[in-house]
Order: sequence, then C-alpha cells, then structure tokens
Amino acid sequence: MTNRTVLKVDDLRVAYGGIQAVKGITLEVREGELITLIGANGAGKTTTLKAITGTLPNCRVDGHIEYDGKPLKGLHSFELVQRGLAMVPEGRGVFTRMSIHENLLMGAYTRNDKAGIADDIEKWFGVFPRLKERSAQMAGTLSGGEQQMLAMARALMSHPRLLLLDEPSMGLAPIMVEKIFEVIRSVSAQGITILLVEQNARLALQAAHRGYVMESGLVTMSGEAHTMLDDPRVRQAYLGEG
Ligand code: ATP
Repeated sequence: MTNRTVLKVDDLRVAYGGIQAVKGITLEVREGELITLIGANGAGKTTTLKAITGTLPNCRVDGHIEYDGKPLKGLHSFELVQRGLAMVPEGRGVFTRMSIHENLLMGAYTRNDKAGIADDIEKWFGVFPRLKERSAQMAGTLSGGEQQMLAMARALMSHPRLLLLDEPSMGLAPIMVEKIFEVIRSVSAQGITILLVEQNARLALQAAHRGYVMESGLVTMSGEAHTMLDDPRVRQAYLGEG
C-alpha cells in the first residue's frame, strides 16, 4: 500500500430537485486501500458513488471529485473504464442472456490484448471457482450471489485501479454474504483499490482498512476500521449491540 491518493471527494453536495441527499462530504481513498462507506438506508451512500461515476442525470452536483490527480467530471463511462475506474452497481446488472464467459469478455471491451484477456479470465476463475464450473451457463440462470460474483469478475476484467462496489451483499443468504466478503478480501489482497458501500457494517469494517459513516447526507465518523468496530457509537447504531 502507498500513500498515493487515488480518489478525493471534497465537499460533495447532491440534490434531487428539492431533496439534498448529500450535504457536503469529504473522503479520500489511497492506493491499495479497501475503504468502506457504511450507513443506514437513505443516508446517501449510493448517491455518492453515482456522483463519482457521473451517473446522476438531472441532479445538481456540487463540489470536487478528483481521480488520479485529475477532476472527474463529464466523462463517458467508456472513458472512466479506460482510466481504470469500474463500478459494480446495486442490483448487479449482468447480461442475463449471455453466458458467464461472454459476460467476462464484455467486461474487457476496452481492451484488445486477446491473450491477456484469456489469462485474466483464468486468473479470476481462480478467485471465483463457482463461475469457472458454470462458465457456459446463461448468467440469468445463476443465483443472486453467483450473479454478484459475476458482476465483480466482469468489472475486474477491465483491469481497474479503483473498484466501486455498491451493496454487494444486498439480498443474499448469509452463507453467500460470507463468500462475497472472502472474494472482496482476496481482490483487495491483489492490490486493487476498493471503495465498498455496505449496510452490513460488521463485515465491511472487518474487511476494510478504513471506514466512513454516513448519516442523512453527512459523514459523521471516519477512521481506522478496527478502531471503528470498537467504537460504542458504531456498535450501538450499526452493529446491533446495546
Ligand atoms: P440505500 O441503502 O437505500 O441505497 P443510500 O445510503 O445509498 O441508501 P441513497 O440511495 O443515496 O441512500 O439516497 C439518499 C437520499 O436521496 C434518500 O433520501 C433517497 O430517498 C433520495 N433519493 C435517492 N435517489 C433519488 C431519486 N432518484 N430521486 C429523488 N430522491 C432520491
């Protein structure tokens, strides 16, 4: 891990019409870090990720977002991927009528190094063995957890330097949630920088280096993840402890 800043969000404010969903947040992600953004439903986490990727049409977005030392504004999704930024949205969005293998090829659409792409498919199959076993299967026939894994593997095929994950554990059975977190740790261990939005605060803080808590559009707490796990306010509000 280095001290190089990959992503810097400064005084970000987002309004949906009259609703101020994000009210001036500042956060930083450094190279190699796994950062988690936790908070209750409606706190503004997804809106923050969408502001980073510029996928908030018809919204007022103010503040400054810098990726790799340059402003991130007005870029087409193709340019974001070329600059090494990949997002796995809530709800996954895999191509249901394509096979797992075809989905992975789609993830590499900005690349033209055929041999490298084939090597990467094998590499990610090593991290996601369930996908390898089902390589020819239509993505739409996979379970929710398997689709989540596929969405992550597809995003990784673009060679991201920063991976944004929106609620990867959402709606999954506990056993699958554990598996998804294992995979997130393993991707992080490969040196890929990750910004993880999660409602499962315990698992997210256990996996992350640092964390930010969002409440009603504001960052109300931040720090080392292991310190936050011991913080009485976090324990009471997000870990379900008295
Ligand atoms: P969740 O876990 O439900 O995704 P979140 O922390 O990601 O929660 P956001 O989805 O960012 O929260 O929502 C923040 C606020 O913005 C909420 O009050 C929500 O109702 C509002 N909001 C989100 N999307 C829209 C939209 N398209 N139009 C109007 N208001 C919206």
